[in-house]
Amino acid sequence: MPGVDDAPDCLFCRVVAGQVPATILRSSDRVLAFRDVNPQAPTHVLVIPREHHPDVGRLAAEDPDTLAELVREAAQIAADEQLDAFRLVFNTGSDAGQSVFHVHAHVLGGRAMRWPPG
Ligand code: AMP
Repeated sequence: MPGVDDAPDCLFCRVVAGQVPATILRSSDRVLAFRDVNPQAPTHVLVIPREHHPDVGRLAAEDPDTLAELVREAAQIAADEQLDAFRLVFNTGSDAGQSVFHVHAHVLGGRAMRWPPG
């Protein structure tokens, strides 16, 4: 399986390894959730797999069980944050706004959301 050694310069692999500080909310054998450093909503949490996969499509193909766990964790965070509604976003590719190529779900909530996103 891909792991931190396969992406030594990956920012989120370094968060997983404890080399970059993060405000961690939830942690399991496969998944980590931490607050985004540049929040775009009152709740803005990132949920990532511990192992390195570059985007959600690759994660779905390579480890669907972890993708399912990641989504369950996102829903649990929304419940813990007492959100009536939330948005779950996987930016995929540079043109879609992905800047960190270690798959992450954005859990956004606590304010009204517009559609379509910009
Ligand atoms: P994306 O643009 O979809 O790839 O999202 C990357 C997210 O990572 C952005 O929302 C950043 O604010 C966030 N981010 C970058 N560095 C850190 C960090 N060290 N800890 C927490 N969030 C971060």
